[in-house]
Amino acid sequence: MNTKPEKPIQMVDLKGQYAKIKEEVDAGIRQVIDNTAFIGGPAVNGFQKNLETYLGAQHVIPCANGTDALQIALMALGLQPGDEVIVPAFTYVATAEVIALLQLKPVMTDVDRHTFNLTADIIEQAVTPRTKAVVPVHLFGQSCDMAPIMEVAHKHKLWVVEDNAQAIGADYTFPDGRVQKTGTIGHIGCTSFYPSKNLGCYGDGGAISTNDDELAAKIRMIANHGQSRRYYHDIVGVNSRLDGIQAAVLDVKLKRLDQYAQARQKAAAYYDAAFGDLPQVVIPARQPNSTHVFHQYTLLIKDGRRDALQDFLQENGIPSMIYYPVPLYKQQAFENSVGVNLEKMPATDYLCSVVLSLPMHTELDEKMLRYITQAVKRFFAH
Ligand SMILES: *Cc1c(COP(=O)(O)O)cnc(C)c1O
Repeated sequence: MNTKPEKPIQMVDLKGQYAKIKEEVDAGIRQVIDNTAFIGGPAVNGFQKNLETYLGAQHVIPCANGTDALQIALMALGLQPGDEVIVPAFTYVATAEVIALLQLKPVMTDVDRHTFNLTADIIEQAVTPRTKAVVPVHLFGQSCDMAPIMEVAHKHKLWVVEDNAQAIGADYTFPDGRVQKTGTIGHIGCTSFYPSKNLGCYGDGGAISTNDDELAAKIRMIANHGQSRRYYHDIVGVNSRLDGIQAAVLDVKLKRLDQYAQARQKAAAYYDAAFGDLPQVVIPARQPNSTHVFHQYTLLIKDGRRDALQDFLQENGIPSMIYYPVPLYKQQAFENSVGVNLEKMPATDYLCSVVLSLPMHTELDEKMLRYITQAVKRFFAH
């Protein structure tokens, strides 16, 4: 009855996606090789311009990966050792890692238990006289409520660095009706082109966006060994570059990014409809004022059987993932650097114990979705 699709179900299906764009991708890669423009060059410049246009950002600075993007963004702000940077405890490690690496103090906070995102109220509660910046993470594909966050940031003179690694393409609508892409609202936006991200390349890649000319110049300099002119190094920088081959792949996929988001939204709508009346699960809440580009489709499993459900799905050939099993403030790496609010992260603690992300990608068809949703329902039927 509920027959297993012939194709194995995957969390992410990059092969199926590639098959549909193979000719264009291969031609793009071939051209980079023919030009031997492996670092920088026309493919990288072209993609940079196209991404600026897509995002509506004054400046995009490509770099080697999303973690570098965050690190370079923070380096550009001229912070001093010990300065506090507010970061959610429910996120991927990179967000907090770069803060600690730069000898800044990651002040970890709880998140909103419905949207999984940082809020203006949570930020305001964590602000101290040493707070200099905040890194809102647009988790799983939808924007934090940025208008109030920008207000709080302005009030306390905080830099805002958006971690847009999971939400590229999402639209945020301001109370006055203005619509902006995530990653262009704060002072700096950072994104990742890791293969499984919504805009993924075929290796590592990342980018930084900003509308501030001065910050853009500084970011460009830091990413390129601190030099503004070749062999004249004004500041200590890093080496973080995007390959021509990756840019060629990204350019092909950028053209389809909105179409890819629609495929993800369609799969999410199928999941929503199937699970909406299951008392044991909560379907992903929508962040008011934001579209959702569904980097992940994440359920809350309320009846204490999250891990059993994951095992059951695995037995039926359905992968699932726990993003994230351990809050950052409980990670050994941050033992000596975590900030305030340590005993007060009920939402983060709760989420780590109940979240389960289902397969989510651009190639999910109805047969797969039916198989997945019926398996989940079968599990809860007994
Ligand atoms: C993927 C990711 C990063 C890091 O990106 P890399 O390209 O893997 O370095 C940072 N923050 C978040 C929220 C991510 O999901």
